[in-house]
Amino acid sequence: MKESEVQFAMMNKGKFNFEEDKDQHARLNAVLKSMSEGIILVDNNKNIVYQNEFVTSHLFRGIGSDSLRTEVDLIAFIQKVSVSKNNKVDELLQSEDITLKLTLEFENQLKYIMLNKFSVYSETGFIGNGYLLRDITKEEEIDQLKSNLITIASHEFKTPITSIRGSVETLMRQDADWEEDFKVELLQGIHEDILHLQDLISVWFDIKKIEMGTMSLNKGYFPISQLISNTLDQLPREIGNKVRYDQSNSSQIPLLYGDKKRLQQVLLNLIMNGLVHNDLPEKQVLLTVEAGPHDVFIHVKDNGIGISKELCKKIFDRFYRVDNSPQRKTGGTGLGLSICLGLMKEHNGDILVESEPGKGSIFTMKLPINEEDLGGIYES
Ligand code: ADP
Repeated sequence: MKESEVQFAMMNKGKFNFEEDKDQHARLNAVLKSMSEGIILVDNNKNIVYQNEFVTSHLFRGIGSDSLRTEVDLIAFIQKVSVSKNNKVDELLQSEDITLKLTLEFENQLKYIMLNKFSVYSETGFIGNGYLLRDITKEEEIDQLKSNLITIASHEFKTPITSIRGSVETLMRQDADWEEDFKVELLQGIHEDILHLQDLISVWFDIKKIEMGTMSLNKGYFPISQLISNTLDQLPREIGNKVRYDQSNSSQIPLLYGDKKRLQQVLLNLIMNGLVHNDLPEKQVLLTVEAGPHDVFIHVKDNGIGISKELCKKIFDRFYRVDNSPQRKTGGTGLGLSICLGLMKEHNGDILVESEPGKGSIFTMKLPINEEDLGGIYES
């Protein structure tokens, strides 16, 4: 081969090597960029030399993590937003390989992060440290949900089961000849307890389905009057007369589109809440309906105890009850509204609240009108 040809071949090889390196670099960059874990790299002088997009735009979004220049800044930041003082965080600077579970709070939100610090070596030796951060908030919330449900189950299941057992043992006594009325009373009590247990179990399943995103809806069209009358039919007879439906707007409401049974469940829950969280002897709930350009609104107005502004958002949190004291008059799991909101969100809808302590509340179901039906079918 001529000298010029050798030179050309070498040049080309170099070019190919360069292209290959560039490709590899781009590939590696793309992987780091699209990872759903955060990566932070710190050099030998403890300067942060890299953080991937997951750190800046997800994990530490909104807190300007770009301003964290050194490992010391990073650790001070973690310490600052940690919910409880974690002594192991102080050890981070010295330790080479360590795994920590962090509970952080920023922007009023709790985040659970699994942090893994590891040493980075090149062919020439130690070149710095890496931090791998995995957002485990969802897993942690599900764990907490499970343990809360177990607590609730053991607490809420105990009373009806004890009472069923007592009644059944009474009825089974061979040496007693109970009056017919007494037997009916016991059987009615058993029936009520079983219904209560069934309710608890369905609450459990609903929460699980909403949480796992496996709630399946059986959607169809139906008039609003059907939703309301079916719901009112489900009310116990003794409280049915406390609920009034103002039908004046109902002829302007387009057919609803959704899972009728699930929407009834939401409406029933809101009505029952209006009557349960109510100290007045004359408890009242008024239902009104209206249609906006894109949504139908079903208002459930009560004359109950009302809720302060700060708590109006919190009441939708799972297990949240305004008053958790043992003196609290009403039972309940604190799961009803969270399920209702989950069900409305599954319909791309929402629940709105207006309330004032001592003045009652208005809970509103907001259900989108199917866009294809706009200007279309109205209830006859
Ligand atoms: P539960 O009723 O089982 O306690 P919910 O999730 O339905 O649980 O409601 C959460 C809390 O919100 C209730 O415990 C109660 O303190 C408050 N709340 C709900 N609805 C009303 C209402 N209509 N009026 C006053 N307080 C309410």
